[in-house]
Amino acid sequence: MILSCRGLRKVFGPNVVLDGLDLEVAEHEVVALIGASGSGKSTLLRCVNLLEEIDDGTIHLDGQHITDPRVNQDKVRQRIGIVFQSYNLFPHMTVLDNITLAPVRVHKRPAKQAAAQAREWLARVGLADKAGEYPDRLSGGQQQRVAIVRALVNSPRLLLLDEVTSALDPELVGEVLTMIRDLKGEGMTMVLATHEMGFARQVADRVCFIDGGRVLEQGPPDQLFGDPAEPRTRQFLARII
Ligand code: ADP
Ligand code: MG
Repeated sequence: MILSCRGLRKVFGPNVVLDGLDLEVAEHEVVALIGASGSGKSTLLRCVNLLEEIDDGTIHLDGQHITDPRVNQDKVRQRIGIVFQSYNLFPHMTVLDNITLAPVRVHKRPAKQAAAQAREWLARVGLADKAGEYPDRLSGGQQQRVAIVRALVNSPRLLLLDEVTSALDPELVGEVLTMIRDLKGEGMTMVLATHEMGFARQVADRVCFIDGGRVLEQGPPDQLFGDPAEPRTRQFLARII
């Protein structure tokens, strides 16, 4: 297992968002999280990346207990890439500088090495000629692909993708989905929150339906979408498909 979440609890005031949630993700596996808006998908991803503190439970990454208070959180975050719906690129920095900022400034990697690796990744995703551009000269799809590259330069063990196509115009969604499918082909372990069931169906090995702060039901996409066992899963799918 790359990721193992046990009994996760997360509350915001009176709002119990995660309520004893368990989730295991194996190496090379792609897991899609689906569920109603507000069901806690983003919160779960943020907890895994240690951006939110959990109120109970444990998270293990590669066998290491990362929610242990003694753990070096920066070191852990280097091993987990996360990409959000809004690409969050710095507008005043070139594509290359956006990608190398954290490796060089935070993780103290030699600038030349970081730049070389960034260029290699950009080439792999067809953006080699954009290294010197500023984000506003790129389409939304290109910007989101740069944001994904930025999450990949540390060679993370796990990539978390939170609704990464939601802010894109429909005609730009495809290039980002293709990139994610390519990453899957290269064996990247990913957990992605999405409300695009078609995408979840194509790319995910397993789909988890989050409801009531837990994984209520999970299974291969064909099973979960085609023949859900739980009435609440059926209700949810009937509403959105
Ligand atoms: P989803 O991604 O599935 O739409 P979220 O994880 O964003 O759901 O939100 C789950 C619940 O947690 C919502 O009720 C939301 O309002 C609440 N929530 C999320 N982040 C915060 C926060 N920082 N402070 C207070 N409430 C929050
Ligand atoms: Mg969300």
